[in-house]
Amino acid sequence: MADTPNFKDLKAPKEGARISFKDGDPVVPDNPIVPFIEGDGTGRDIWKASVRVLDAAVAKAFGGKRKVHWFEVYAGEKANDKYGTYLPDDTVEAIKFYGVGIKGPLTTPVGGGFRSINVALRQVLDLYSCVRPVKYFAGVPSPMKDPSAVDLVIYRENTEDVYSGIEWRAETPEAKKVIDFLNSVLAGDPSSKGKKIAEASGIGIKPVSKFKSQRHMRRALKYAVRYGINDVAIIHKGNIMKYTEGAFRDWCYELATTEFRDHVVTEDELWKNHDGKMPKGKILVKDRIADSAFQQILLRPSEYKMLVTMNLNGDYLSDAAAAQVGGLGIAPGANIGDHGAVFEATHGTAPKYADKDMINPGAVILSGAMMFEWMGWLGARDLVLKGMQGAISAKTVTYDFERQMPGATKVGTAAFGDAIIKQMG
Ligand code: NAP
Repeated sequence: MADTPNFKDLKAPKEGARISFKDGDPVVPDNPIVPFIEGDGTGRDIWKASVRVLDAAVAKAFGGKRKVHWFEVYAGEKANDKYGTYLPDDTVEAIKFYGVGIKGPLTTPVGGGFRSINVALRQVLDLYSCVRPVKYFAGVPSPMKDPSAVDLVIYRENTEDVYSGIEWRAETPEAKKVIDFLNSVLAGDPSSKGKKIAEASGIGIKPVSKFKSQRHMRRALKYAVRYGINDVAIIHKGNIMKYTEGAFRDWCYELATTEFRDHVVTEDELWKNHDGKMPKGKILVKDRIADSAFQQILLRPSEYKMLVTMNLNGDYLSDAAAAQVGGLGIAPGANIGDHGAVFEATHGTAPKYADKDMINPGAVILSGAMMFEWMGWLGARDLVLKGMQGAISAKTVTYDFERQMPGATKVGTAAFGDAIIKQMG
């Protein structure tokens, strides 16, 4: 890759250095340049509060030895006002060049004709794992009896499955051609077993490959080994979709029991070789059918630490799990690949609260904590988590929590940021 970014309008920052990559992991200088997208609507308030919290955590953790050089890049309405496009090429180039980005929520304009930034960045940087930690902060209103039992991380495959975008509308010539091919040419195939597809069906394709399943599982297991996660569940619907979901399960097991042989025990092996007793220091790799996984994380959450999923199952499961620990306002996420990562809140722009200094900035702040973890800046990560827990325990919270927390003090977005900084100690 070139040594300088190829910008049309943006100017590369004069200070700071670029993150590089080795074996899929970031090599982070003490002064990394991090492009950020402020976000539309409430994104403005959220970013102002978040950047103060993140800078305070780094300053406190590393006493001036390390510093993030934030670099504003544009997307969404701000980009459209400035450059006449919702996603300038410069923004994609900046995140690609510096290998990292953090973003607030963006409006999805109604009508088409624009590129989705999430899709563009995912494709350009091949961000193949979507990661969502689901962690309970004591005191957050939750529908669960004991939400503290929920502490897991969801690794969702991000590039294939039914999201591949290969679909044909019902009754189009293309759909008819595919149906005709399946009903006639492949009719004798044993897996078709004489089944026929109704003439006027819409058709979608669900590709799942060994390479993409295994690189995703590899990233998840590397994380589990690094952070001492001792339980990894492969989630699938392989009982019904044998050659896609079932194959995903098999490929994940294959990778775990070859590349990670010294680290893992499968559930089968546990009973066959260890009488059901977990050998010390090993990671249990098990699998669960997707529908049962929904029940399990509700009924026996403490038995799950990491879920490795395909794209669609992960989409459903991550929102359901986030709801268990208090929902959208504090749900962070990351899209990670071997040459870059983008961190973001999972909520939208909540436009009715724009510029009212009301919205909960927690999700972007926790996305920043995820970024620090990815960078290996664990001291800064821990301070953000400590500050967040402290502010919630002190019941100094934004409207969304205050309305469900008896005795809480309602504060605005900026003051919630201040409360987090104060609670860092
Ligand atoms: P939304 O912006 O997520 O907001 C829905 C509701 O969720 C809000 O009215 C609010 O509920 C609550 N909420 C969301 N974020 C919150 C926060 N930080 N703190 C507290 N409460 C929060 O969903 P939407 O209204 O469906 O979408 C609005 C726009 O965002 C659309 O243009 C959509 O396309 C876009 N969007 C973007 C992303 C993204 O960029 N990643 C993701 C999703 C949607 P109450 O009213 O009950 O307080």
